[in-house]
Amino acid sequence: ARQATARTFDGDGRTSDGHRVELLANVGDPSEAAAAAAAGAQGVGLFRTEFGFLDRDEAPSIDEQVAAYRRVFEQFTGRKVVIRTLDAGADKPMPFLASDFEANPALGVRGLRTAVQHADVLEDQLTAIARAAQGQDTTVWVMAPMVSTVEEAEDFVARCARHGLPDAGVMVEVPSAALVADRILAHATFASVGTNDLTQYAMAADRMLGSVAHLSDAWHPAVLRLVAETCRGGATQGRPVGVCGEAAAVPALAVVLVGLGVASLSMTPRALADVAAVLAATSYDECVRLAQLALAASSAADARATVRAALPVLA
Ligand code: PEP
Ligand code: MG
Repeated sequence: ARQATARTFDGDGRTSDGHRVELLANVGDPSEAAAAAAAGAQGVGLFRTEFGFLDRDEAPSIDEQVAAYRRVFEQFTGRKVVIRTLDAGADKPMPFLASDFEANPALGVRGLRTAVQHADVLEDQLTAIARAAQGQDTTVWVMAPMVSTVEEAEDFVARCARHGLPDAGVMVEVPSAALVADRILAHATFASVGTNDLTQYAMAADRMLGSVAHLSDAWHPAVLRLVAETCRGGATQGRPVGVCGEAAAVPALAVVLVGLGVASLSMTPRALADVAAVLAATSYDECVRLAQLALAASSAADARATVRAALPVLA
């Protein structure tokens, strides 16, 4: 990683034998989008929209949202931006969405689940996204966080369609969604795996709690099997599956994810050059072989060590 800061990213993600992998950026506001564009990101794979909503007693107006989203879309003219609808609740509480006391907020009303009681907030956001996208030469994909069921995905896709937003996908960050990804992707046009939450829920280890941090490891074969199952679902329906959790920014893990069938990796812009370099030094067959080794491991440590030892570029 020390050497890597000297590396530059030329905007192209591919394995040594030319298998293309979209390398995208995670951004949270217009200034991060500018930094991502400057770093050469091929697009935005995760635009977290929470920034405009935090610390507010009321949701921002539609006009306010349109202006903010447009400032991100403008940075990626001719490219793609995957914008995620509000992921409120749990680690991101929002006063205007206050709900009843929850003993387990991570298992409570968060992400898309808030739309059951506050459909107006989601509807306004979709209105704003559609307006912001209008007249822009940016490919805008919309994505819902914290989807657990096929019905939720179907409902979200239908809502997006009513707003003239045909590219509607879901985050796969709950094990149930990973396991029925084939059904979900019969409705959604894409999926993006959120490995941060997927790891939390697969391992039953709170991502905010240091005392269980040793369990929160996306290298765990249980997590990787869920990613593999999501990719299998995507292949069944001919839909792309990406990863936008922190795992995508770890070069050796990125190789494994590509070998599992992931088509795009979205990460903090400063990780792009490192990930691109390791991919460029590894063939697609090698990615597949390393993914199989990781899946067959019995622990996260075992998977990590096995893959790192077999990746000469990291030696
Ligand atoms: C994730 O859960 O992996 C993710 C990308 O979403 P967030 O970190 O915003 O929960
Ligand atoms: Mg998440």
